Amino acid sequence: MNRRKFLSLASAGIAAAASSVNVRAASADVAEGRPEAVGVLHDSTLCIGCRSCEAACQSVNSSILPRPENYRTPEKPFYDRSVLAVKRQTDFQRFTVVNRYAVEGRYPVHRKFQCNHCMEPACASACFVKALYKTPEGPVLYRSELCVGCRYCMVACPFFVPAYDYDNAWNPLVYKCTMCAPRIASGQVPGCVSRCPEKALIFGKRSELIKIAQARIMESPEKYVKHVYGEHEAGGTCWLYLSPVPHKLLDQPEVGDVPPSRLTSGVLEAAGVAAGILSVLLGAACAVSRRRVNNADDSRAEGAESDPARGSGGDTHNEASEGNKEGGQ
Ligand code: SF4
Ligand code: SF4
Ligand code: SF4
Repeated sequence: MNRRKFLSLASAGIAAAASSVNVRAASADVAEGRPEAVGVLHDSTLCIGCRSCEAACQSVNSSILPRPENYRTPEKPFYDRSVLAVKRQTDFQRFTVVNRYAVEGRYPVHRKFQCNHCMEPACASACFVKALYKTPEGPVLYRSELCVGCRYCMVACPFFVPAYDYDNAWNPLVYKCTMCAPRIASGQVPGCVSRCPEKALIFGKRSELIKIAQARIMESPEKYVKHVYGEHEAGGTCWLYLSPVPHKLLDQPEVGDVPPSRLTSGVLEAAGVAAGILSVLLGAACAVSRRRVNNADDSRAEGAESDPARGSGGDTHNEASEGNKEGGQ
């Protein structure tokens, strides 16, 4: 009986370890990336920092995002460019912001910031309930109904994108750009792209956008640095950027080409296997302990049979104590 119990507990532990490997395989599948993905190219040599894209984003996401006049933190209207004086970050009130960068010896450069919709998104790999996931079309989307609020996605994202509604005590959620997936599905371009007056934003198939970006660099090498940011960063992203200055001057981090999910997958797998091994050991310890208690019970029963006086109810407490002492050795 004890051996059967041990084997059953051991099997459960091994199953737990195997299941962690399956989870790893599933995340690798999510992380595969999609060669047919769509995306957006932002050419900061054309961007004038007008904030029309910010206004458009709020407008097309009005069911999720509040109007600026209802922001919990003070914010200027979208036509007010004085906000560009300070660097801003996306948060639970805005999916995108445009920042201005004063670069020595040239006009200011503007760069739009939002989720980059990675080809192998670290946020999705880190999300163990799969609230974040990569779609075949390109957008990385969020299922609020699955989110447990662990905020692993915020830690995992190499671009510091996911924002959290800390002020909402009852239903705090993660906020980030959706690439306007519903609009794309209905044949429209993302809201921000549709309203950019300078055509600094172009929507299309990611592979085509890379060709357009490379052609611009080739045709006007004096205008651009020779680097399409997002072509390879973090395994590639659906949002791509052209710049007249090194991208790191526009707060675009040097994250390397390897998807972060691949760097962490070994650790995650090891953690899963460790959890499986731990349950095997705990199961074994539990089985051994139970076996010793049973042995002690058997000894007591034999003692009671050989000495009827010791089996009387009056001494039960002391006899049990002896049995426990024996079992604990
Ligand atoms: S930029 Fe960050 S939040 Fe967006 S898909 Fe990549 S890892 Fe996820
Ligand atoms: S793609 Fe849509 S959600 Fe994302 S920044 Fe543009 S308008 Fe906002
Ligand atoms: S709408 Fe276009 S030009 Fe205006 S800030 Fe946005 S990306 Fe730049």
